Amino acid sequence: MKEIILLKDGEIALKGLNRYSFEDTMIKNVKRRLSSLGRFRFYKAQSTIYIEPMEDGLDMDEAVERLKKVFGIAAISRACIAQKDWEDICRLAPEYLAQQLEQAKTFKVNAKRSDKRFPLKSPEICAELGAILLEQFPHLKVDVKNPEITVTVEIRDYAAYIHADQIPGPGGMPVGSSGNAALLLSGGIDSPVAGYMMAKRGLELCAVHFVSPPYTSDRAKLKVIELAHILTDYCGRIRLHVVNLTRIQETIKERCPEDLFTVVMRRFMMKIAERIAQQENCQALVTGESLAQVASQTVQAIACTDAATVMPVLRPVIGMDKEEIIKIARSIGTFETSIQPYEDCCTVFTPKHPKTKPTLSMLIEAEAAIQDYQQLVDTAVSTVEVITVTHEGAKGYLE
Ligand code: ATP
Ligand code: MG
Repeated sequence: MKEIILLKDGEIALKGLNRYSFEDTMIKNVKRRLSSLGRFRFYKAQSTIYIEPMEDGLDMDEAVERLKKVFGIAAISRACIAQKDWEDICRLAPEYLAQQLEQAKTFKVNAKRSDKRFPLKSPEICAELGAILLEQFPHLKVDVKNPEITVTVEIRDYAAYIHADQIPGPGGMPVGSSGNAALLLSGGIDSPVAGYMMAKRGLELCAVHFVSPPYTSDRAKLKVIELAHILTDYCGRIRLHVVNLTRIQETIKERCPEDLFTVVMRRFMMKIAERIAQQENCQALVTGESLAQVASQTVQAIACTDAATVMPVLRPVIGMDKEEIIKIARSIGTFETSIQPYEDCCTVFTPKHPKTKPTLSMLIEAEAAIQDYQQLVDTAVSTVEVITVTHEGAKGYLE
């Protein structure tokens, strides 16, 4: 019995002529994600993508698990391939779905006959296969409204396919189909979620992480590499740029009013991230800011932060409560890593009473005290450490 995986795309089906390039991007991502499992053949027909194993013993469970995280996929069907021959279908259906049919109490048969030359019409397929299944699994009852399991038979161009219920895909747009962005990735809960959300809208991400040794430790950096690694399940490869912010933070502390420390620092972060984003051909920055969560996330502070860059700053969690963000963090698997207690450079030198309503003119005045501003940015950018994080790990760190 030979198995195959059928993928249905969701939203990308709506994109008219662009559809083909969206599908191609999705197929490229799927290929990459499955390549380490073995050899598969990929083809498209009738708005379905076919993934056919080309060697024995491929781990199909793992393949499905991986596909659940590839954006653009609306639904996944793991099916058995039958000949377009009624007897073959009637022989394979009970055999292939035996385990699921034994566990269910109710079922129905659903037929999709896109090859109109097939001798039986859909209602006949449903009635006749239904009768065969009832005979072989006498405990079953037919329930057309709310069955526990729907046995689907699809008669298509190349073959017939038999499967039980579809597995929902992650939806969204294929990563890379919307462009590129640089994610400001801290070790916290919010920014990995923000990256996940924008990847789901089709952005391919690189990441920028700021460290402040000796105030922040190597373990804190490793935590961020781990977070990036978890994100690669969804985003594919991530080039993580680790930027040393120590000198800049010490300079701000020395020369700027204490209550503006955080916003001045965040403006530095934006300028550095923008430079890296330009080098990496990105069109936007992404942060995990959520309105009013902390003093630097008031609208006034965000306005000052935004003014430091000409790039659009995407903040997908801006309107979400912490609990809502945590729910996503748990579901994508970043939460447990995010709550490990390591210091972030943002907590170094934080003022006791930060200004919650800063203005741009206050910041321009404060920053005027840093004569070597541009040089500090240049040095931070030129000394960046780039770590390539893939599904397999990160060289020198996670292996
Ligand atoms: P989180 O819960 O993700 O830690 P937060 O509540 O700590 O977020 P801030 O520390 O104010 O928020 O940071 C806001 C955003 O700034 C983060 O979501 C992230 O995008 C970015 N950021 C903060 N610290 C860093 C860092 N060390 N490196 C890169 N980006 C950072
Ligand atoms: Mg943080």
